[in-house]
Amino acid sequence: MADKKKNPKAPRVPMPEQPAEERSRNFKEVALGYTREMAIEEAKRCLQCKKPLCQKGCPVEIDIKGFIAHLAEGDIPSAYKVIKNTNALPAVCGRVCPQEVQCEGACILGKKGDPIAIGRLERFVADTFDADSACEILTGDVACSLPNDHLKVACIGSGPSSLTVAGYLAAKGVPVTVYEALHELGGVLVYGIPEFRLPKNIVAREISALWTKGVQFKPNWVGGRTVTVEDLFEEGFDAVFIGVGAGLPWFLNIPGENLVGVYSANEYLTRVNLGRAYDFPNYDTPAPRPRNVAVIGGGNVAMDAARTALRLGAENVYITYRRTREEMPARVEELHHAVEEGIQLQLLTSPMSINGDENGHVESMTLQVMELGEADDSGRRRPVPVKGETRELEVDMVVLAVGTGANPILLEATPGLELNKWGYIQADSDTGETSIKNVFAGGDIVGGSATVISAMGAGRRAAKEIAARLGVE
Ligand code: FAD
Ligand code: SF4
Repeated sequence: MADKKKNPKAPRVPMPEQPAEERSRNFKEVALGYTREMAIEEAKRCLQCKKPLCQKGCPVEIDIKGFIAHLAEGDIPSAYKVIKNTNALPAVCGRVCPQEVQCEGACILGKKGDPIAIGRLERFVADTFDADSACEILTGDVACSLPNDHLKVACIGSGPSSLTVAGYLAAKGVPVTVYEALHELGGVLVYGIPEFRLPKNIVAREISALWTKGVQFKPNWVGGRTVTVEDLFEEGFDAVFIGVGAGLPWFLNIPGENLVGVYSANEYLTRVNLGRAYDFPNYDTPAPRPRNVAVIGGGNVAMDAARTALRLGAENVYITYRRTREEMPARVEELHHAVEEGIQLQLLTSPMSINGDENGHVESMTLQVMELGEADDSGRRRPVPVKGETRELEVDMVVLAVGTGANPILLEATPGLELNKWGYIQADSDTGETSIKNVFAGGDIVGGSATVISAMGAGRRAAKEIAARLGVE
């Protein structure tokens, strides 16, 4: 029987981690997860506020206070049930959500000390509870029946937005088919975020829970090529959700971007993830193995690319970023882990050119030294070049992590689909419906690159509307 005493003044229970010097050369998960005792101890710090602010801070409004109360009592199945009511992928979100600006950022304990480690608790509950029985817990039936099998909904793309739509509708008994262009399911969760932050088996387990609920997955189907939105309606689908993400990499248009040894972060991480280069020596994947690497950018993607290169054996890995550490958009924890592992920050520098040897291979990079000027529209101080000051960096690989945009394949093959001025799909902010009736969209293909949980929030809003239209609310 768990001890029921609350302990809000205790410090936050630290997360066990692999030591930096050890983990910087392997792909095993960095954060090892709470034990049961640690999770219950942390849960007992929760004040159980009358009006909890944390729930509003979560884009899918998990009943955080509710699940923590069950956890503090040691009742993990009930805690899981509460989380799963609104979040289809808790083991993923507990690992990769920017909790410090969402739920934990709103926690009242954070005003004077450490907020409750909500993400870590969510991860603990999801990992501990067998995801395969998710269906049973939601519906009271192990083999979820599909009582509304006269209906059918298609999702294009298998990232978190589509998986949320599929999970929500499947729980309402609606058969869902997910079409995915790649051979693996999960979107950025599998081909972008590296193994050491989000192990593939965690995503696979969440997807297998959806299989159990009757969701059909069709990998190797390219929306706009192998199948179009029109085809799907002709086949009798009642609604289509487009969740194809924003995977088209941007470049800087500086000299040398075509040299051998220059990659977009998207290509580099996809090669390592889907080619299983991280699983050496079990897989002999021909991933690049440079000695000195520069990654351009300051977000999560840049951190992931840099830390991946380090784990694949690079001696020096630099991150070049044109502002200072304070302005970096990466999650605080990722930046902290990267620096701890030995990633070298080249702050206030902007790449001018990538320089090659006589064989057309990268050998160095020229950086413009910057300083911070006046604040720009985003409220951040604008980086401006320091006249005449440059720096040379000896590198044999350069990875560009400077953002991505909408891939046009499906969009161009869907007549009548309205796009906004940035090339993303125009969708209603409440329902996700696009300019085509019963065609919905959400996630990065609507709002541009954002977060897993915001994609899931959009999926949930669209799924609710689809359920209402189909009369299965
Ligand atoms: P995606 O996850 O992009 O999935 C879209 C899927 O659609 C893909 O599988 C793609 O192959 C498929 N697809 C594309 N075109 C077609 C087509 N024509 N037909 C069929 N299928 C198609 N967010 C966080 O919250 N925390 C993090 O720590 C974090 N780290 C990140 C690290 C990296 C390296 C990257 C790239 C992103 C990271 N993000 C992070 C952002 C987050 O992963 C995305 O915002 C989120 O995955 C978007 O979900 P989505 O469903 O819109 O699409
Ligand atoms: Fe926090 Fe993300 Fe979990 Fe919501 S889903 S409670 S934002 S970690």
